[in-house]
Amino acid sequence: MWVRQRGNAPAFLVPRQPVDTLPFLRLLYNHAMSDTDSRLVNPGPRPDDRLDQTLRPQSLAELIGQESVRENLQILIEAARKRGEPLDHVLFYGPPGLGKTTLAHILANEMGVNIKITAGPAIERQGDLAAILTNLRESDILFIDEVHRLGRAVEEVLYPAMEDYALDIIIGKGPAARSIRLKLPRFTVIGATTRLALVTAPLRARFGAVYRLNYYEEAAMQEIVRRAAGRLDVEADETGIQEIARRARGTPRVALRLLRRVRDFAQVRAQGIITAGVAHDALDLLEVDALGLDQMDRRVLRAIIEKYDGGPVGLNTIAASVSEESDTIMDVVEPYLLQLGFLERTSQGRVATQKAWEHLGLEFPKGRQGQLI
Ligand code: ADP
Repeated sequence: MWVRQRGNAPAFLVPRQPVDTLPFLRLLYNHAMSDTDSRLVNPGPRPDDRLDQTLRPQSLAELIGQESVRENLQILIEAARKRGEPLDHVLFYGPPGLGKTTLAHILANEMGVNIKITAGPAIERQGDLAAILTNLRESDILFIDEVHRLGRAVEEVLYPAMEDYALDIIIGKGPAARSIRLKLPRFTVIGATTRLALVTAPLRARFGAVYRLNYYEEAAMQEIVRRAAGRLDVEADETGIQEIARRARGTPRVALRLLRRVRDFAQVRAQGIITAGVAHDALDLLEVDALGLDQMDRRVLRAIIEKYDGGPVGLNTIAASVSEESDTIMDVVEPYLLQLGFLERTSQGRVATQKAWEHLGLEFPKGRQGQLI
């Protein structure tokens, strides 16, 4: 049987069975990163971010920003330690690149336990999850990224595993089928998602603690860039650090990526030292503007303003006019534009605000103010 692949990977036909298509798909995918993947300010992971893992904070004390989440986690850890029990199941949600995976690693370090990493789309069948669960040891952490993309059937296996540490296995088929229950070690699931609304209610209810990660404040971003520059042996003055931090969309992953690109620029054009001027020139060259918007953000805003008179316009229409997937616009572009107050969501669609018009150097039409409200 042949299936058409959709999503960010290029569309092509691949046989489903019996050829093992995964390595083939990955190869093609890596060779054809879409526009979104290649965006410098895309908060999603890219292959060239691998080095950032060495920059990951290892303990809660090392973590910068996210004060309220940190305090809550501290209590969660202390309580679990005092009771001599594994951690409660934890769900992190928020835009990509803000530290969900990092926090899962920190929790494992703080509890002194192993962590197994997987992702919703990687667990295709119930058997895949059963294999993972039966290999866990007491108190281990199972980190499931993109937990909203778990299949229904797989979720059904996860419920009793999270609630009763039990695995129900069906043996045989039809009337002769019977179910046996295997005991699992007490373990912790840490889920991460960019779309809380897509996590089914029964799954969400099984997480004892749910935390939202927010975009980082400017001071925290500066500290993240400062620390990374120190660790990477990059010479940067305070003004250079501030310039990079300001353009990093409140997202540590973007900050680290911008730092690496500015470092290259500084080495080639400025004796390796990052100052405000160097950061400014480098990021202008990379078309990341003073607020961290890149071409894609500006294309979205321009489409709303120039083609639809500022909106309201539906997400699918916007996506079609900039030739992107609506999921990408929703996960990657929109959250930051909403955060900046450049976009508003109304029941009729998205509306570009006065700030957005002005940022693009366009005159906000008189008389629209009242209409918007
Ligand atoms: P997510 O899982 O939310 O997509 P990650 O945990 O993978 O994000 O974080 C992306 C990168 O940002 C990591 O490589 C890590 O080094 C860095 N990072 C995340 N949070 C922090 C933080 N609070 N302080 C310093 N660096 C951070």
